[in-house]
Amino acid sequence: MINSGLYKRYEDKAPYTCTKDSLTWWFAFNDSKILIQNSKSEILIPQFEDLATIGCEISSKHYIGKIEGHNCFAVALRSKKGIDEHFSFIPLKALYSSVDDDIFFISTKASQIVHWDATHKFCGRCGHTTNELENQNAKVCPNCGFISYPVISPAVITAILKDDKILLAHNANFTKNMYSLIAGFVEPGETLEEAAQREIMEEVGIKVKNVKYFGSQPWPFPNSLMLGFTAEYESGDVQVDGVEILKADWFTKDNMPEIPQKVSIARRIIDWYLNI
Ligand SMILES: [Zn+2]
Repeated sequence: MINSGLYKRYEDKAPYTCTKDSLTWWFAFNDSKILIQNSKSEILIPQFEDLATIGCEISSKHYIGKIEGHNCFAVALRSKKGIDEHFSFIPLKALYSSVDDDIFFISTKASQIVHWDATHKFCGRCGHTTNELENQNAKVCPNCGFISYPVISPAVITAILKDDKILLAHNANFTKNMYSLIAGFVEPGETLEEAAQREIMEEVGIKVKNVKYFGSQPWPFPNSLMLGFTAEYESGDVQVDGVEILKADWFTKDNMPEIPQKVSIARRIIDWYLNI
């Protein structure tokens, strides 16, 4: 079990069993979108014995564990064409709140496996075609022996508190009135706390102290691991970089702007602030 908070019914290390199982779970992707079974009342991840029966052409398939004893596969599909009309593709984020949380997070894991597989077909050292290593998510180069594993990119996201206020920022990529926490990728040689302090200084020009770990969340767009922190304001005036961050301000609990959806750790941290 990876994280009992996220994965209630899922066992990632359960060995594959070769059976005809009408409840095999197919987490299948084409062009970063996930295959779903259309239904009037709900969105369903396809579950049946053989994905080929609905017209899917599989380009790669990875076993990723079991849900309640049933095999799960992360699959890349060659094309959307020819697939039964009762199925369609939706963006991964749109799946959230339409399926149970654990199914959403297994879908995000499958997405990362499929992305890693698609981007590591060739050896990063010598360019030779890679082979899969059995029973693990790894690829080995038969020419030079280089082994590659799924890439995970750590990123920090921090709630900055000052008295009873929280600092929220409007990123250039956000929708019109959306505000969230300051976030950014960890650079080589940094601790997570240093990365949080550097990102905050770069993006809003303030110094923070008492950076404390809050929690984490896989964020497969395409392969981040978000590490959440809280920090206290220390000094400086808020000054946005004008490139990545267009606006930033201190907000009180009774005067919040539009904030991210509940799927994100950003929202989990903001909700924590709203309840202290
Ligand atoms: Zn090689």
